[in-house]
Amino acid sequence: MPELPEVETVRRGLQQVTLNRTILGGNVLLDRAIAHPVSSIDFLTGLRGSAIAAWQRRGKYLLAKLERSTECFTPTEAQSPQPGGWLGVHLRMTGQLLWFDPSEPLQKHTRVRLFFAGDRELRFVDQRTFGHMWWVPPGQQPESVMTGLQTLGPEPFSDEFSVEYLAQQLRNGRRPIKNALLDQTLVAGVGNIYADEALFLSNIHPQTLCTDLTPVQIGRVHKFVIQVLETSIDAGGTTFSNFLNVQGVNGNYGRAAWVYNRTGTACRVCDNPIERLKLAGRSAHFCSQCQPHTKSE
Ligand SMILES: [Zn+2]
Repeated sequence: MPELPEVETVRRGLQQVTLNRTILGGNVLLDRAIAHPVSSIDFLTGLRGSAIAAWQRRGKYLLAKLERSTECFTPTEAQSPQPGGWLGVHLRMTGQLLWFDPSEPLQKHTRVRLFFAGDRELRFVDQRTFGHMWWVPPGQQPESVMTGLQTLGPEPFSDEFSVEYLAQQLRNGRRPIKNALLDQTLVAGVGNIYADEALFLSNIHPQTLCTDLTPVQIGRVHKFVIQVLETSIDAGGTTFSNFLNVQGVNGNYGRAAWVYNRTGTACRVCDNPIERLKLAGRSAHFCSQCQPHTKSE
């Protein structure tokens, strides 16, 4: 599943290639890929004639700010572009956004095609079909249409995600720290890979209850959550089968993972085999020597 670094990598790629080209039209091959408006035709009609002014990321949501060109007006009126609303995308499990020449053969799981001026295409490919696209009309806030944005916690790189904030949030938690890190209302965009990696670097067992963490441990969790995300963004996201950047290339973080997906192989620090257990319905990967389990009395 794409996590924050992968989505950020996609955002940066889209920011490089898609800006200031007008959307001429599109084709929705799977209606349920469009979360809003209800009608795929309204989705395409809303986008047509707009150009992407910027790509933003909030958690694992991608948001393209749209502007309507004023070409259709008289030259004297062709001044500042008008707002065109927003194009929202969530890749979920297997979504990919690929930037193509429209003549490229269609992938099997192509769901939405958006055609841009200059003979380019943004193609949404999604094998598992959990991914979504939204068009937010001008004058509406993205949160009002993309309701998942309303409950997102602070961005991990924001000032709001401070050690004090994290300590406050964890103070009364009777749940394991791994579960807390996966909670998108606590911090946005941290998923399974980076939660496992951050806990390894913090020397904290994933089952440790939040209430049992010392202030020093909370400080380490805070530091390493940010560090692993930054490291992965610098590596262009992780390597796993369904993640591709907009040019269709895998990132490099996976090869450097400490524990994620390394069950049974030697810990890079102590040679103990990496173990796995189920937490919050997900696999937690850890080294029981580097991350001893301290239980409360
Ligand atoms: Zn170890």
